[in-house]
Parts: sequence; structure tokens; C-alpha cells
Amino acid sequence: MNEQNPTNADVIVVGGGTAGCVAATVAAHTGVSVLLIDSRIVADIGRKACGGALSADAVRAISEIVGPLTSAEIAGTITSGLLAFPGDSPAVELDEPGVILNRPVLGQRLLSDALESGATLMTGHTCMGWSDRSSRTVSIRRPDGTETGATGLVIIDATGFRSVLTKAAGPTHPDAPKRSEIGIGYCEILPLAENLDRPNRVIVQIAPEGARDGYSWIFPMGSHLVNAGIGASLAAADRSLKKHLRSYLDASDFIVVHAPETESVTDAVESRRSAGSLWSGSGMIPLRRPLAGLVGDGFLSVGDAACQANPLHGGGIAPSIIAGSVAGRVAAAAVRTGDCSTAGLWEYGVETMRLLGAPHAAQDLIRRLLSQLTPDDMAFVAGEMAVAGRAFRSLYSSSPGLRAREILGTIGRAARRPALLKLLLESGHRVSAIHRLYRNYPGSPDEMGTWIGRGELAVRSFDRLVRRGRG
Ligand SMILES: Cc1cc2nc3c(=O)[nH]c(=O)nc-3n(C[C@H](O)[C@H](O)[C@H](O)COP(=O)(O)OP(=O)(O)OC[C@H]3O[C@@H](n4cnc5c(N)ncnc54)[C@H](O)[C@@H]3O)c2cc1C
Repeated sequence: MNEQNPTNADVIVVGGGTAGCVAATVAAHTGVSVLLIDSRIVADIGRKACGGALSADAVRAISEIVGPLTSAEIAGTITSGLLAFPGDSPAVELDEPGVILNRPVLGQRLLSDALESGATLMTGHTCMGWSDRSSRTVSIRRPDGTETGATGLVIIDATGFRSVLTKAAGPTHPDAPKRSEIGIGYCEILPLAENLDRPNRVIVQIAPEGARDGYSWIFPMGSHLVNAGIGASLAAADRSLKKHLRSYLDASDFIVVHAPETESVTDAVESRRSAGSLWSGSGMIPLRRPLAGLVGDGFLSVGDAACQANPLHGGGIAPSIIAGSVAGRVAAAAVRTGDCSTAGLWEYGVETMRLLGAPHAAQDLIRRLLSQLTPDDMAFVAGEMAVAGRAFRSLYSSSPGLRAREILGTIGRAARRPALLKLLLESGHRVSAIHRLYRNYPGSPDEMGTWIGRGELAVRSFDRLVRRGRG
């Protein structure tokens, strides 16, 4: 075990978001030494542009790992969702239980969990990249601008979308997301002038102005506040997402958003302000299947750094917690057995690809299909998916049980558009095939070459199929 120097540890986790805090907690809990490094100051950990939405399934999944969510962590409880489409397609209302999180409060709790488990924290320190890959040393810039190195037996990259270590060839097979596979989102936490009529209902507008392959959302945080946002792929998002969010909100007749007038609202807003909740910001998110290679020699990539968020809607909180917990367990076991090589850590890739990679690879293809349809066909497909029940649930969950082929089959049965139906049915087979491919992730690094080739071919030929089907 590696403890002589404060910047040395058995496991170094870079990034104290949901993935990193959970990885640090799980690893430290086993007794190995863990150093958790984040560029932010302690008070800012957990604060980020995020809708904070979790389905009931996702809440169950993360509660098994981090324990039940506290009432302070839950800003709103959701029972239903309204899915609205562009053009004349009618909106669909569905039962959709879930919660809207108070993200900073959850982030601070996950940080406390890591510290209580015995992890050492280094905040205000920014990882600049690898300083010596072979000795597993990363370069860290201190708050005063000077640099030092931190050496571990296992380094976990949990730096989110920036993925400073993964990008620089951490895993055996990095494949960086393309522009069309990166989402950009802008959101605000807004006080309301009037109480919401339906504080337990989320509203999602598919393909709003300025985000033609994305959506805007209104997530209630109780009856006086909403988390409202808009997001799309970098390839399709208009430059001024904020302006589009504002005009979407102005045109909505279901809520009135402006400065609070009544005393009770002011009080509510003030109490939220002092809790640090009123906020606006933007952020990026990978919208694709996970990176093919998540493991390297003494290295694991986790959360957004590994592209583990749900590609259909960008929900990444639950996936990052699930993957963080697997990463922490596998890293600690490797330290204990003395084999922190790629082979010694390989189990992490196999397990996370089964839990997250397979459904997300299937959803990646569905996203690629939806993004190429005409607004009318897209509204039709999204509506059918929503009515089929499962896909809308996936709007803010990452349920591994999502059966993509079943969804598309249901759409097919309901479809009255022959060309689209043909495309959907053909897509269904491809979606099932990629799901199987990711479930059967190679059992050892030696088999990766063939597997990666099959995955790339599957995505390329799917894109061709969609282009032909549209034409
Ligand atoms: C606009 C928007 C809306 C979203 N809405 C939802 C939603 O409603 N539901 C949902 O489930 N998900 C949502 N997500 C996705 C979700 O926020 C992420 O998937 C999730 O936070 C990923 O967690 P993470 O730990 O991998 O990364 P992050 O939470 O991004 O954490 C990364 C951490 O690493 C630190 N860091 C970064 N670089 C360095 C460095 N060089 N050195 C040291 N530290 C560093 C950062 O300070 C940060 O603390 C949304 C994302 C966006 C952008």
C-alpha cells in the first residue's frame, strides 16, 4: 500500500462529481488509501448545470449504492409527464414517477460520504494530464499555480466531460466523441410568480426552436421553483440557447415566470437563494454509447469522462453513480490482489458494459435515427415510443431493462407510414444486435480488436441505413 507521500495513494480519483465521490467512497471503504482531487473549492462541489431529474427506477438503483435520498436532496416529486411535439402533433401525458434533485445538496452529501469512508480530499487542485503514464503519475496544479505530481496504483478519471486523462490515451482504446455525439445544455433555476398548477408534472418539449435534435424541459422543484432548460447536440444547437429557452418560456401558457411578487413566494425564493439553489449555467454532455475501452494499465475512466450518460436524453447521474461504484470496487480489489494491470482491472469494463453499455448502445442508435427524421416523422415516432410507455420513462432514467427492439416493434405495429415503418423495423434488428454486442463485451483485453471493429461497423452501417431510409 502506497501512503508515504500526501500526493501518493493506492487509488487516486480525479474529479469529485457523482462518479468520483462514489468511486472514492466505495474504494476507501475497503481500507485502501484514496486521494480525491477536484479543481473546485469544497463549497462548489456538486454545483453544475443539470436538470436533476431522476426516474423512480433510477432513484431505486442509486439508493442501493448511496442509501436513500434525503428530503433535502429531493427538490420536487414527480408523478406525471407531458411530452409536447413540434407542429400539430398532439401532446402526450403519461404517468412518470420520479424526482427532481437539489443537485448541490446531493453533491455535498456524496463528498461527505467519501471523507467519512476515509478518502483524503485535495480541492482547488487541477489535474493537468499525465506527467508520467508508465509510473501512473498525474500532474496537478496547486491553487498558487505551482505544479506537483500525484502517483497511484490505480488512477480513476472522473473529470466529467473534460475527461483530461481519458482523452490523453488512458484506456487501451480511446475513441473521442464527434460533434454530433456531444450535447450542450443551458438551464436556469427560476422562481415563479404563481404557484404551479401541477407541481408534480414535468413538461418536455421535443425539438423546440433552437434545438432541433434536442428538447427543452420544465422540471418543478416544489410549487414555486422550476429547473427549466434546453439542450441539443453541438451539431444542431443554435448559438443562443438561453434566448430560445426564454422565448419558449414566454410562449408557454402553463406557467408565469418572472420576479416574485407575493411575500410568501419571496420568502420561498430567499430561502432557496440562501441554500444556493437559484442558478443558471450551461454544460456539455456526451450523447453516445460508452467509449469502447474504459480500462488501461492502472487506469479506469468513469461517468461522463467515459461517455456513460444516456445518449437519448443525457441523463447521467444514475449511470455515473452505478459506474463509480463498480470502479471503486474493482480498483480496490486490484490493489489488494496486487494486479492493477489492464487485465487486473478488466472486470470494470465487462460489468459496466453489461449494466449501462448495452442499453446505451441501443439508445445511441435510436438517437441517431430520431435525429435524422423529418420533424413530423420524429414527432410521430417519439409519440409512439411515449405511448408504448418505455421510451418516455427513459427520458430521464437509464433503465437497463429498456428493450429497444420491443419499442420499435410496437411503433412498427402502430405505424401508418410505410416507408418509415420499413426503416423502423429494419432499425429494430440493428438495435437488438448492438445491444447483444455490448452485453457480450470481451472477457479479456486480447479480444478487443475484433469487438471494436464489429461495433464501429454496426454504427456506420446503421447510419447508412438511416440515410437510405430517409432518401
Ligand atoms: C445541461 C445539463 C442537464 C443535465 N440534466 C440531467 C438530468 O436531468 N438528469 C440526469 O441524470 N443527468 C443530467 N445531466 C447529466 C449529468 O449532470 C452528468 O451525466 C453527471 O453529472 C456526470 O457525473 P460525473 O461525475 O461523471 O461528472 P461531473 O458531475 O461533471 O463531475 C466532474 C468533476 O470533475 C472536476 N474536474 C473537472 N476537470 C478537472 C480537472 N482537470 N482536475 C480536477 N478536477 C476536475 C469538476 O470540478 C467536477 O467536480 C445533465 C447535464 C447537463 C450538461
